[in-house]
Amino acid sequence: MQFELAIIGGGPAAYSAGIYAVRAGIKPIIFEKDGGGGLAIFSPNIENYPGFESISGIDLMEKMSSHAKKYCEIRTFEKVKKIQKINNMFYIETIKGKYTSKAVIICTGSEYRKLEIKGESELQGKGVSYCATCDGFFFKDEKVAVIGGGNSALIEAIYLKQIGCKEVTLIHRRDQLRAEKAYEDEAKKNKVNFLFNKNAIEINGSDQVESILLRDTITSKEMKIKLNGVFISIGEKPQNQIAKEMKIKLNEKGYIIIDKNQRTNIKGVYAAGDITGGLRQIVTACAEGAIAALSTTEVLDKKYPY
Ligand code: NAP
Repeated sequence: MQFELAIIGGGPAAYSAGIYAVRAGIKPIIFEKDGGGGLAIFSPNIENYPGFESISGIDLMEKMSSHAKKYCEIRTFEKVKKIQKINNMFYIETIKGKYTSKAVIICTGSEYRKLEIKGESELQGKGVSYCATCDGFFFKDEKVAVIGGGNSALIEAIYLKQIGCKEVTLIHRRDQLRAEKAYEDEAKKNKVNFLFNKNAIEINGSDQVESILLRDTITSKEMKIKLNGVFISIGEKPQNQIAKEMKIKLNEKGYIIIDKNQRTNIKGVYAAGDITGGLRQIVTACAEGAIAALSTTEVLDKKYPY
């Protein structure tokens, strides 16, 4: 099947790119490897996307995806396996079919980073989780820990306390949070406990999480905390497999290098959203998606007035 533009990914950057592309007279298709929404769907509460004072990630992404569906074709659960460029045409192979396009926007986003400690993978789904919105419900009246010191960790800790976890302890490896002050204040208001300068070194339990072993980063003293759940929230890493296979230039952290028009080093290939690093906010992902979509007009022989 032929399209003018293939958009790879299903988060805010992809939806925004799809909407802007169609409105600029381009025929796009969006390929999502899963049900769509990207990592934003795991955010319990978003308070900095203009127009929505407070909205859950799931609700915001549902609104964006249904908006995009009004304009363009979205293929869910259709993972892209391979993209080859031959004579200015892109040949796209997914798990379901083969397509061609004259331009590609990569919006593959990022995935959760793992601690890679003993017990983490063994107890995933048995008390170890990467998503409080998805799994927090099972820990009402229980003792849990959140690992990390960024915005996401603080948001998860606040959420867990608000849904009724008996005790929520935020464990951070330094003595200063990376998160915005507003989240720190909110966590304190919600009586989240803080443990600083501690590295998690082992999660223990037979069938379910029973305890976590921590090591002090200054004294090296170890301590064990009994708890029922461990929420790991230590950031993300780029999903750059397709970019790597296409030999797209990445920075030292693995994010795609782009210019101000979202161009990559390969003509006809653009990138938008978390995969380009930077601020990694929903609002910036949407903006990059729009810029990328309009930039493709330069290889699609479309007139665009800017
Ligand atoms: P992040 O800002 O990268 O923070 C990751 C946290 O995990 C850091 O505190 C880091 O510690 C810690 N960490 C990393 N690797 C670790 C390890 N191996 N062991 C222990 N701790 C480790 O990630 P994020 O909170 O997921 O946020 C990702 C991006 O989304 C950020 O740009 C963030 O601003 C944005 N975001 C924004 C909002 C918002 O409402 N504005 C909400 C969520 C996310 P160090 O501090 O010591 O490096």
